[in-house]
Amino acid sequence: MSTVHPISLYNTLSRSVETVTPVDGSQTIRMYSCGPTVYNVAHIGNMRAFVAADVLQRVLRTVGGYEVRWVMNITDIDDKTIRDSSETSDCWLPAMGSRAGDAHGDLRTFTAYWMQEFLHDIQTLGIRQDHLAALPRATDYIQPMQQLVVDIFNAGYAYVSQGSVYFNVGAYAQQHAYGRLYTIDREHFREGVRIDADEYDRESVSDFVLWKAQKDGEPAWDLHIDGQVLPGRPGWHLECSAMSHELLSPFPIDIHTGGVDLRFPHHEDELAQCCAGYHVPDQSHFWVHNEFLEVDGRKMSKSLGNYYTLRDLLDKGFDPLDIRFALLSAHYRTVLNFTFEGVRAAAAARRRVQEYIWDLVDRTDGYEVVDADAPNPLQEVFQELANDVHTPKALAALHTFINVHPVEEMDEHEAARVLYAFGLLNSVVAVWTAQPRPEIEIPDDVLDLADARWEARLAKNWAEADRLRDALAALGWHMKDGKDGYDILPLEPGT
Ligand SMILES: [Zn+2]
Repeated sequence: MSTVHPISLYNTLSRSVETVTPVDGSQTIRMYSCGPTVYNVAHIGNMRAFVAADVLQRVLRTVGGYEVRWVMNITDIDDKTIRDSSETSDCWLPAMGSRAGDAHGDLRTFTAYWMQEFLHDIQTLGIRQDHLAALPRATDYIQPMQQLVVDIFNAGYAYVSQGSVYFNVGAYAQQHAYGRLYTIDREHFREGVRIDADEYDRESVSDFVLWKAQKDGEPAWDLHIDGQVLPGRPGWHLECSAMSHELLSPFPIDIHTGGVDLRFPHHEDELAQCCAGYHVPDQSHFWVHNEFLEVDGRKMSKSLGNYYTLRDLLDKGFDPLDIRFALLSAHYRTVLNFTFEGVRAAAAARRRVQEYIWDLVDRTDGYEVVDADAPNPLQEVFQELANDVHTPKALAALHTFINVHPVEEMDEHEAARVLYAFGLLNSVVAVWTAQPRPEIEIPDDVLDLADARWEARLAKNWAEADRLRDALAALGWHMKDGKDGYDILPLEPGT
């Protein structure tokens, strides 16, 4: 059964939807995703970006028929990791094995802890680590980063000032386009103004730091440049340019992903550094950006009390796969309004598909023969995924399919064919299981209440039926009424 479709994808660089074909003519897509800065727990907005990248690479594999070499970096050195590792070092890090006064060791130990937390979170959300060809830590790639600084300097697009090295945007913009990913108003071009921070104002353009001079107590490496030795560390933008080159070159790679907030300055500057230092016209063919996640219609912030990590949501009883499913409910290029109600709706929708899959499993009863040339019954669903990874349209098509193809009207051959297609779909969506339906032990008092409620319904004693429904809910159960009988089901968590 073939699911292969040409994949179309919106490219921020060309501002248009284009068909994906590997740049190097092979069958492998080389894809780089800007990963987390490991200094605390990622929030659910960050998670949207990683799940979006995951679904994209899964679509490329299952729907596009490609191999994918997927790299996600770990930013373990920047302003925030240095600040927080030095604040943590006195009280916690000795217990974690770091030596006193060892800034390198403190940073490494501190960020290793948060990296493990991150890997645990993405795995919980259905991202498979074996789908990642590499998870490079920035501090393991200092040498190629230094080389890139030197190459940019030798090309004439960098200068040294007070122990740091800066990218000369004005000089670069005379020879190359700057503002290719994000249109920049010329009046916001502030030539000669230097920015040291890893993250800065999105509304102005300044010279940004490539190599940052060491401050007291900070971890540092020696950069040899222009006859000088400059102890310091790489700027954040530089890290991604060098790591994507080390692990995925030659440039351009096929796809570079990140949240829309990374488009400028982070991605614009990554691109400029690559063009300046590696002498290539492009770092990546596609630049793919996912939109923000809001909570209850507002920008997520700690002060508004609507800031959630994955752990916060799990503590409220939500299933991580329902959260993953909820993240897929909006197209990646639209703002996602995340609400608890939305997760509960996702839980119900996911459950409905899972029940259908269990019905298929029961129907096939181990019958597995699938004709290789058989048409794909979920053709429309795969078509929507191929169309700029339109997950909400794909899921709508899936629900339509379920409505018009009841399992009880299928023979076992048909059910096996449909079940096989659902398995392929699940290699993209990754929220269902084909394991047999779990046996649920229903306590006797719950059976008695359900029985009494059914009798009350038959007698049209609605008040009593409602009272018994509430009594069941208090015990954590609910009834699904059918024409000739009922099912007793546990209440979903989070309701
Ligand atoms: Zn990056």
